[in-house]
Amino acid sequence: MTEIVTVSVDEVSIARLHGFACWGCGAVTRRLEPSGEVSVTRTDRVWRVFRCAECREPVAS
Ligand SMILES: [Zn+2]
Repeated sequence: MTEIVTVSVDEVSIARLHGFACWGCGAVTRRLEPSGEVSVTRTDRVWRVFRCAECREPVAS
């Protein structure tokens, strides 16, 4: 299952794009796993992003 999110290059954290930090919450100390892809406007790149377990859980609200 691939989720593609498009973000502006101005509003994205480089650390998150590079998979150094959770895409959802920015955590760097949690175990991160590949979770979808992000394309960045005005670039041709599609980045594989990572999320921690908490951010991968579907949020029931
Ligand atoms: Zn997270």
